[in-house]
Amino acid sequence: MVRRRSPAHGTLSVKVPPTERREFLPFAPPALGQEEIDAVVDTLRSPWITTGPKVQRFEKEFRAYLNAPGALAVNSCTAALHTALICLGIGPGDEVVTTPITFAATVNVIEHTGARPVLADVSPTTLNIDPAAIATVLSPRTRAIIPVHFAGHPAHMDEIDALAAQNRLHVIEDAAHALPAAYRGHRIGARRNPTAFSFYATKNLTTGEGGMLTGDVEFLERARIVSLHGMSRDAWKRYGNSAQWFYEITEPGFKYNMTDIQAAIGIVQLAKLGQLHERRCQIAAMYTAAFADEEALELPVTEPGIDHAWHLYVLRFRHNTLRIDRNRFIDELTRRRIGTSVHFIPIHLHPYYRDRYGYEPQAFPIAYDSYERMLSIPLNPRMSDQDAMDVIENVLDVIDEFRR
Ligand SMILES: *Cc1c(COP(=O)(O)O)cnc(C)c1O
Repeated sequence: MVRRRSPAHGTLSVKVPPTERREFLPFAPPALGQEEIDAVVDTLRSPWITTGPKVQRFEKEFRAYLNAPGALAVNSCTAALHTALICLGIGPGDEVVTTPITFAATVNVIEHTGARPVLADVSPTTLNIDPAAIATVLSPRTRAIIPVHFAGHPAHMDEIDALAAQNRLHVIEDAAHALPAAYRGHRIGARRNPTAFSFYATKNLTTGEGGMLTGDVEFLERARIVSLHGMSRDAWKRYGNSAQWFYEITEPGFKYNMTDIQAAIGIVQLAKLGQLHERRCQIAAMYTAAFADEEALELPVTEPGIDHAWHLYVLRFRHNTLRIDRNRFIDELTRRRIGTSVHFIPIHLHPYYRDRYGYEPQAFPIAYDSYERMLSIPLNPRMSDQDAMDVIENVLDVIDEFRR
């Protein structure tokens, strides 16, 4: 691999600008092929297109892949998180602790239940919620903790589960980035905590839109009813009736079911997941090797005892190394035809949460400081080695141009 050394390292005196890309490198295009197309067409020609045999099969294979106790397919990770909160009985008067470094859905669903989201700052290395910070915000009203396995790096689950056990709290894992990640030898989703996965277009496995809730079998029985109108066939079955038409509404549930069209894509994607993940790991390793000596960059870490899902590769610029800010850096990469993104605008900066709870930017100093200097570079299985080298060369080129 070509590794241009910056003048600061003194190994190259003549600057060689990278050859310009002809085509824009998209940040996170879906990795879908002919097999997924065929599976969808096959479903469309079948007598059943919504929740049916393909959803059942997808749940079974997903559960087996993770070694999860059970799995319930839904139409988004947001729906999975909301369903989990409802099934745990969380509502007005309750508090749920989560991280400011997440997508808004994690926190919006807490608001939907009428509970109050309480944020706890992140660890400066992984940007995952810091168990020590959680401990400082617990109150008699705290009912649950929602850790997010940010970028695909598992949160400190032993510490979080221990805190939860001591304080009689539930833990719901937001695993939108964490397929397939593992913590101390077990896949995320294999624990008993309700765990929510996303199959949104940009995620490691996609069904266009979709999600999965894993957890205990009995818990998921209730979740299945809540996620489909609150419809139950139990009473009827108990009396040995076999008629298909009868159901009872036992609570006002939600319309969160997955379709067989989505599940058909999911089944194919799950079979490919090992390969797709392997490619993510390779690209992440190329980045880490190429950027390791670059003093302007702080790189993602991989703690011992975990398997990283490598959903995102998040760079942070070190303080006082560049003459430009993050926004200008993104503009420079866009001009060089490299797509980027930012994960995430911290929750407490969004007007709704800022105004409702009166947050100052510095309320969560690590999240805020990281946000100001963070940037996600393309990491997806469709990238060629050349694409990855283009990202490396252009990132280093912008750094060289604007080094302080
Ligand atoms: C994508 C994402 C979600 C929401 O997933 P959907 O399937 O779009 O509902 C939730 N949490 C995090 C951290 C995400 O990145």
